[in-house]
Amino acid sequence: MNQDIKYRGLRNQGATCHLNSILQVLFMTREFREAVKRCPKENEDINVQLNALFEDVGRNTAETTKVTKKLQFENVYEQQDVGQYLEKILSLVSDEASQIFRGELVHRTVCDQCDSDTEDLVPFWFLSLPLMDSSDGNYSVEDAIREFLKDVRFYGEDQLYCDKCEDNRDTTVKYELKHHPEILILLLKRFEYNYQCMSYSKDNRAVDVCHTIDLPENQTYELYGLVDHFGL
Ligand SMILES: [Zn+2]
Repeated sequence: MNQDIKYRGLRNQGATCHLNSILQVLFMTREFREAVKRCPKENEDINVQLNALFEDVGRNTAETTKVTKKLQFENVYEQQDVGQYLEKILSLVSDEASQIFRGELVHRTVCDQCDSDTEDLVPFWFLSLPLMDSSDGNYSVEDAIREFLKDVRFYGEDQLYCDKCEDNRDTTVKYELKHHPEILILLLKRFEYNYQCMSYSKDNRAVDVCHTIDLPENQTYELYGLVDHFGL
């Protein structure tokens, strides 16, 4: 056995590479790994299976069967949505482990006429960012964040109803970051439903990923992990 190899990877049960990619990044997130380890062993939640898996990765090619069972996988031969399974894992682990990624957005709706301001709090574990065209053809994660946080105007036929004015009005809607998570997960929305083919199609365009990202209110994040999944 080659002692230089520190980690031995996860066996693919069929088409569970999407799950394995999430588990690998969670494993490499020290804060998460340690929080999972601290969780009482008698708990019935997924911490027990995750902790056993994380210990295995250091020794063997680890099996994920107990994790997929806990996540109630119906078919391990079918690719699933990464975001959905990340959300499922984080909803099942201990609060201490999941809160590392927990942030909060404010969804703000402002009537242009009366200035009335409605705020909805939206907790999140990751931000799903749009892929969109940019003038120079290069697409970047920074563009995506700017796009995500920009003002969206509803006017003309798209006006929204204002309770105070009791009528449809030009309205500005935007997301603001209220609570920055300790570790920020960004998900690029590469899949779009194609109604002609009645299936999802993947947008394979190249994306520039920067090593540091500045978010509003001087919050800077440094990149430490990235999932680059090939194929469908
Ligand atoms: Zn109004």
